[in-house]
Amino acid sequence: RFITFEGGEGAGKSTQLRRLAERLKNDGIDVVVTREPGGTPTAEAIRSYILSGAAEPLGAEGETILFAAARADHVDQVIKPAIDRGAFVLCDRFIDSTRAYQGADGVDPTFIDQLEALAIGNMRPHLTLMLDLPAEIGLARAAARRGSDGADRFERETIARHEVRRQIFLGIAAREPERCIVIDATREEDDVAADIWQAVVSRLLA
Ligand code: C5P
Repeated sequence: RFITFEGGEGAGKSTQLRRLAERLKNDGIDVVVTREPGGTPTAEAIRSYILSGAAEPLGAEGETILFAAARADHVDQVIKPAIDRGAFVLCDRFIDSTRAYQGADGVDPTFIDQLEALAIGNMRPHLTLMLDLPAEIGLARAAARRGSDGADRFERETIARHEVRRQIFLGIAAREPERCIVIDATREEDDVAADIWQAVVSRLLA
């Protein structure tokens, strides 16, 4: 079973992903935890390159191609082998982040769809948890976490741009309700974790 966590900056994806992984492991389930962009040495190198701003001369389309190359490697090396052996894969960001981030940066959705098909084949998530919160709250949380100096090139963008991304995530969830569940991430960590567990049980473990 393939589960992805999506949402804007400071939504608590990584924390909630770790909590879910622990809970599944306690139930004796084989769990693989990974993230995007990244998840393999090559994909992590592409991640650092893009987040440093070094790929900006390529433009948003060029960055999207690099993200797709990283994703193809990650699917081949990590996600597909784990799913094939029957593990649960929990991935911090996946295809919907490309739609939200590169989509908000002006990349044509059809171009994103075509690259996605090449990069993932039939490896679509069975469940996507959309951790939703207003951009303003998420950015304040992210800044508190690492200090504004540590912000990467995407975090430095305006609240309006982040709010566009949020609406893209919500639009995907509305179009694909069989795959996606929206979780209100403004609440306490324990309450968010409880909702996530409920979603996993009802969609994948029942
Ligand atoms: O989730 P995390 O903070 O690790 O993501 C790293 C950065 O990569 C984020 O700032 C996010 O904005 C950016 N990103 C992106 N396009 C993607 C995935 C992530 O711009 N498709």
